[in-house]
Amino acid sequence: MIKDKKKETVLKGIPASPGIAIGKAMLLDREQYVIPRRSIKEEQVQNEIKRFKDALIQTKNELLEIKKRISEEMGVEHGQIFSAHLLVLEDSMLIEEVMAKLKKDKLSIEYVFQDVLKRYIKVFSEMDDEYLKERISDINDVGKRVLRNLIGAKEDIFSNLKEKVIVIAYDLSPSDTAMMHKKNLIGFATDIGSRTSHTAIMAKSLEIPAVVGLEAMTKSVENGDTIIVDGAHGNVIINPSAKTVKKYEGDKAKFLVLEKHLLELKDLPCQTLDGRKITLSANIEVPEDVASVISHGADGIGLYRTEYFYMNRKDLPSEDEQFKAYSVVAKKVKPHPVIIRTLDLGGDKFLSQFEVPHEMNPFLGWRAIRFCLARPDVFKSQLRAILRASIYGNLKVMYPMISGLAELKQANAILEEVRVSLRKEGVPFDENMEVGAMIEVPSAALTSDILAKEVDFFSIGTNDLIQYSLAVDRVNEKIAYLYEPAHPAVLRLVKNIIDNGHNAGIWVGMCGEMAGDINMALILLGLGLDEFSTSPIAIPEMKRIIRAVEMSKAEEIAREAITLPTGEEVERFASKKLKEIAPELAQEA
Ligand code: PEP
Ligand code: MG
Repeated sequence: MIKDKKKETVLKGIPASPGIAIGKAMLLDREQYVIPRRSIKEEQVQNEIKRFKDALIQTKNELLEIKKRISEEMGVEHGQIFSAHLLVLEDSMLIEEVMAKLKKDKLSIEYVFQDVLKRYIKVFSEMDDEYLKERISDINDVGKRVLRNLIGAKEDIFSNLKEKVIVIAYDLSPSDTAMMHKKNLIGFATDIGSRTSHTAIMAKSLEIPAVVGLEAMTKSVENGDTIIVDGAHGNVIINPSAKTVKKYEGDKAKFLVLEKHLLELKDLPCQTLDGRKITLSANIEVPEDVASVISHGADGIGLYRTEYFYMNRKDLPSEDEQFKAYSVVAKKVKPHPVIIRTLDLGGDKFLSQFEVPHEMNPFLGWRAIRFCLARPDVFKSQLRAILRASIYGNLKVMYPMISGLAELKQANAILEEVRVSLRKEGVPFDENMEVGAMIEVPSAALTSDILAKEVDFFSIGTNDLIQYSLAVDRVNEKIAYLYEPAHPAVLRLVKNIIDNGHNAGIWVGMCGEMAGDINMALILLGLGLDEFSTSPIAIPEMKRIIRAVEMSKAEEIAREAITLPTGEEVERFASKKLKEIAPELAQEA
């Protein structure tokens, strides 16, 4: 019997990273551990048992350590949460069942363990007992921890890809995306996420097409299905017909021609028609991204997100390790500046070394500078590394999520303490290294006149500023329609920050995704933004727009845009203006 040909299905999501990818689907399960069903030989059984026991001991030690730290830092009641986790680990029924299944089925221990765990969760979730239902999340957490210890935190599921694949997942954790520097990974598509979720940001920095927030993606696709990801328009086509594939191959070719054409601007200065110089910098996540910064002709790095340094490892990066990485980046990018953002843990970026307790509103919680001020040991080690590396290039530092003057002063005081101790030790550093504050909280935007006196520059973090000022969770695809960079409230806040910065004599940049939004470019330029920092792939388009307009024209556009009453009208007006100034880009947008 001939099997039915699968039907072409189109899913609409949120465009996250431009370009078109055509390839086979590789489906990651929701736990994000891809565990193949691997058979083992009889003589390997003992070794698998030993691996299992070792992983249990390792997990127990980790949990005891966390329990101790959380009890000290947050009180014994919080520490007790981990007692429930420890009980799961000691559950003799679970362990015996795993052992019996291992001996019977002769499959790898991680596969058997995951299988038993899934069954446990299913049974518990079907029970009427509320107490037992609540234990599901404990079992899940502990299970993941044991699996991580079995697989090894650095197990790299992307390293042995034999053919070009498009990764399909419910979501990708920052530690997954941090492993994705692999050549056969040509795109991805996820159920959840938004334009500014770390997944989207990482896709851009990897320069692979991506669509997020597709809701039903993982349910609609099977491993090995052919997929088209149209990252610019947010479409994913599953099992496309030959005709559709042909159309997209044509679009892909056109996209590549435009990209090539724009790259010809690489070595030309970023200035308006009347000669106003604008700094066009790039955002990076890991030191490997520097090559792309240079190849796209950026004037330096406007945001080095250092969180990725802390990922996929069980220990903390040492001061020396950080110093080496920052020095390498500084040397490579010199004489251009590199702005290192201090650790921005929290929100959608969690790090396994710090057991941050579950929070109801993580984006409003213990994150970024709040965390660093509470953990001066971690903060100081990073600041020492940055200062020591500052003599190798043009380094600047900035703090994330400043919400008011006290916080900024406290961060500056710690930085000064670090300077004093380095001087005492005779360790050289750049005494004039610029220090900046990210303005990404409305309270900081509204008091930017006060904050400006304490720093050398501002960098506007619109990803957070928009979510906080419009009260729209930046990673929630259900309310993505409300996440409007062009909203009049956002434009007013941005104008306020730029004006206050300029009145205080400091320069103002922007490093959120809005800085690479071609529709917003003319307005931001006209509002007086001095620096745009965006993913390297957006640099050529931004340069094309800035080089095509007179400053007075951009100012006129900004003046009109800021009078418009809705984000929708601002968008429409902006795209009309873009069409006049750079018509070939307007068609792409
Ligand atoms: C921002 O909030 O705009 C920003 C650049 O920081 P992140 O996206 O890392 O929160
Ligand atoms: Mg931010």
